[in-house]
Formats: sequence, C-alpha cells, structure tokens
Amino acid sequence: MKKNTLHLQILGGMFLGCIFALISVKLALPTSFAVNYLKPIGTIFFNSLKMVAIPLVFASLIVSIASIQDTTKISRIGRKAFLMYASTTLISAIIGIGITNLVKPGSFISTQTRASLLALYGHTVTQLEVHNHPKLVENGPLHFFTTLIPENFFNALTNNLNLLQVVVTSVLLGIALLKVPHKKRQPVLMFFDGIYEAITALIRMIMQLAPVGVFALIASLLIELADHQSGVGVSEVLYALLGYVATVIGGLLVIVLLLYPMILRVFTNIRFIAFLKGIYPAQLVAFSSSSSSAALPVLMESVEKNLDVPEEISSFVLPLGVTVNMNGTALYQAVICVFVAQAMGIELSLTTQCVIVGNVALSSIGVAGVPGSALVMTMVLLQSVGIPAAGLALVLAPDRLLDMCRTVVNITGDGLAAVVIAQKEVKNC
Ligand code: ASP
Repeated sequence: MKKNTLHLQILGGMFLGCIFALISVKLALPTSFAVNYLKPIGTIFFNSLKMVAIPLVFASLIVSIASIQDTTKISRIGRKAFLMYASTTLISAIIGIGITNLVKPGSFISTQTRASLLALYGHTVTQLEVHNHPKLVENGPLHFFTTLIPENFFNALTNNLNLLQVVVTSVLLGIALLKVPHKKRQPVLMFFDGIYEAITALIRMIMQLAPVGVFALIASLLIELADHQSGVGVSEVLYALLGYVATVIGGLLVIVLLLYPMILRVFTNIRFIAFLKGIYPAQLVAFSSSSSSAALPVLMESVEKNLDVPEEISSFVLPLGVTVNMNGTALYQAVICVFVAQAMGIELSLTTQCVIVGNVALSSIGVAGVPGSALVMTMVLLQSVGIPAAGLALVLAPDRLLDMCRTVVNITGDGLAAVVIAQKEVKNC
C-alpha cells in the first residue's frame, strides 16, 4: 500500500514540477531561484541513485554468480541476453530508418532554417568534435573489447562510466569464487550478501526522497531550458523541427507500444500493463534524470519485487543492458542519420541505409547511460556513413526532451529482457 502511494507521489512530483516551471516562466521569475535552490535538490537525488549503482552491481553479481554453482547457466543467460539485446537494437534502428523515410521530416526544413540552425549550434558541434572526435576515431575495430578489462580493478569501481568493466570483473570474481573451497567461500559470500542487503535498504531510503527529487529535477530543467531559449528565436527553430521531434517520439512509441508488447506476448505470460506497472518507478526516474545508470538501482529493485525476476538474472542482465542495450538511443541515432541527410539534400542508397543500421547497433553500445551521451557517438556515426557531422547542429535544440523519452525506452527494453530471460529460465528448469 505504502509503495503504491510512493509511486503516485513520484508522478505527482513530476506533474507539480512541470506546473511550477510553467508558472515560473510565465511570471518571468528569476532563473537563479531554480539554479540555486531547486537544482541542488535534484542533483542530490540524482547522485544518491548513481552512488549506489556500482556497489549494488558488484555485490549482487558476485553473490548471484557464486550461488548459481552452475557455470553453464551463466553462459546460457549471457547468450539469451546477447540475443535479446542484439535483435531489439537492430529492430529499433530499422524502425528509425523506416519511419524517417516515411515521414521525411528533413524535407520540412527550409534552406533558411537550415542556415540558422547551423549558425546557432555549429559552434557547439565544433566543440564536441574537438573534444571527442580524435579520441573516438583513433580506436580500432576491436577497441571495444580492450575496454572490457580494466587496468586496475579498483579504478573500475570508482567511475559509473565503467559499469561494463564492473560487470565483467564481478562475473569473473564470482566464477573464481566457485573454485574456492566452501569453507573459505562462505564468509566472502556472507559479506557481499550483507552489503547487497544494506544497499537495497539504502535504495528504499533514497526512493522516499524521489517525489521531491523528481519535482526539483523536472522544474529546474524546464526553467533552465526556457531560459536558454529566450531571445534567440529558438521557438521558431523548434517549430521547424516539430516533424523531426514527432518522428523520434512516434518511433519510440512504436517500440514501446508494438515491439515490446509483441515480445512480451510471444515469450512470457505477463500482461503488458502488468509489466509497465511493475517497472514504472524506474521509468519515472529515467524520464526525470535522462540517465539509465541512475535508474538502474530502481529498475533492479522493481523487476525483482514486482515482476518476480530472480536476483541472479536481474543482477547480471540489467547492468549489462543499461550499458549496451539502448533501443531508444538506437532509434534516435538512425532517425538523425536519415533526417540530417534529407535536410542537407544527401541521397542515401539502400546499401548505405543498411550500413547505418549496422553502425547504429555498434555505436549505441558505446553510449553511456548518462544525459546527452548519445550526441558524441552520433557525431562519429554521421561521419562513418559520409554525412557531415556539422549536421548534428540541426537536432541539438530539442535534444534534452528527446533524451528523457529515449532513456525511458532504453531501460524499458532492459526490464523486458530480464523478464523474458527469467521466464525462459523457469521453463528450462
Ligand atoms: N541518456 C541516455 C541513457 O542514459 C543515453 C543517450 O541516449 O544519450 O540511456
């Protein structure tokens, strides 16, 4: 009962945050109030969730793997997760390409709008390019695999961007523990189990703050966005981009309302509404924070408690998914490639569009679960298929809004994978 009320309170917090931002913008209240008093509250909530992500993944993975005792089960779960992630990412990219070819949002952009967007955001793209591009293109095709193993085990634990390394090292440590005599293994497992229990209790405490945290995150974000956009004619620019925004949101809805329910129906006996009800606290956190990593602890707790996913599956499949499985981001990147090409009058052959699907799938793996991280990877993606990276300037204005939406789709896909794999495993037993 208490939990249900909390979820409603979080929804209420989000709603009140939007209302507060609207009133504040309408009355032209100073932005400094939002920046000085609201934003820090949102940041405290956001950081509290990020703070527990690594210890949670580390402790729960070690305990789960070392308790499974059957290493074939671990590789079976890994195989299923890979299949789910690869197929949903590819399908999402194809949906993105298909819907953009259908709607042709790029053709709504006049030459004048294109010029003003390039002038407005060109500088930001150049900065992104200068800071990130050389680093990204110097890496060879196998670079991704070299990043899986950290140089220093403890370093990996100190940065949320290293979540994948934490997953790999925890799995290895869990498997290694299975080779240790029972008498020595048991106290180690008890220790990590205790840590896991404490972190879970901490997450429940943090979630009590969620209504206020979500209110502060949404209100300060909207007020700041409105402030950045005043006086530079961006509202007209946004209007010109409505076709693009509608295409991305339409594509995300196709994934959430068609693809996911279909997968759920084929592979599980869970109703879609029940699934959404089970994970919606995590979706609310993802929406208000634009961060899959921040939503991870809530997602793990939600699928375990509400959808009966065993901890041994959620602790492995979800951290992996949050790092490599980004269906919303894959769709968004595919839409951008075709949209920018349309707006710049570049013809994309069928072969190039197939290459885009493949490159999007690879590129979305490299996107970190933090706000706006897809932008950098998309810049490299555009260049990899011969579209000028400067075209990214066309889509920067509505990016934060779309980031909120695609992050929800990203973590919903991860939750779905956990539920599907859990039910398949039950059938295997
Ligand atoms: N913000 C997204 C996430 O955390 C990543 C992105 O698409 O930029 O899942």
